[in-house]
Amino acid sequence: MPYIALIPKTYILKEWLSVETPVIKPPEGFSPALQKALAWCPCCEKETPFGLDGRLGYARCVGCGISERDFYVRQFNGLWSDDALDKFVRAVEKSRRKYDRPFPWEQAGQMEQKACLVCKKPFTPAGNRQKYCTGCGEAVRKEQRKQAVYRQRKKEREGA
Ligand SMILES: [Zn+2]
Ligand SMILES: [Zn+2]
Repeated sequence: MPYIALIPKTYILKEWLSVETPVIKPPEGFSPALQKALAWCPCCEKETPFGLDGRLGYARCVGCGISERDFYVRQFNGLWSDDALDKFVRAVEKSRRKYDRPFPWEQAGQMEQKACLVCKKPFTPAGNRQKYCTGCGEAVRKEQRKQAVYRQRKKEREGA
């Protein structure tokens, strides 16, 4: 069975075309084990392990590929604040679980190659917003995180 068949079509549409689809809510009182890099997946209808998609730096359900930035993934897992989201991505990173399967739209051949903004080498983006190749993307994200921590510390110092 090709990988694309594992993903309900409505969900593919929802993630990149913003089409309304029914979603599966977690049971009442559900609390995701975010620290263990587990979260409720509205597409797989259960708590699933998330793995790091090294290309975009997103955490993705290893079952269906939905990312932690999906509206319902955020809603059902208490990931509304960027802080909570960031914490979850870090937990996923720490779990060393990887999401390294191709994305459905790559298999469909809809993404054209782009030149990385840093090293200028061509790469196949995993999404419209990807600007760097895998290697440079990781370096850029690391730097951004460092900057964020630095700014936070500075703010705390100034507030004290
Ligand atoms: Zn899923
Ligand atoms: Zn690069």
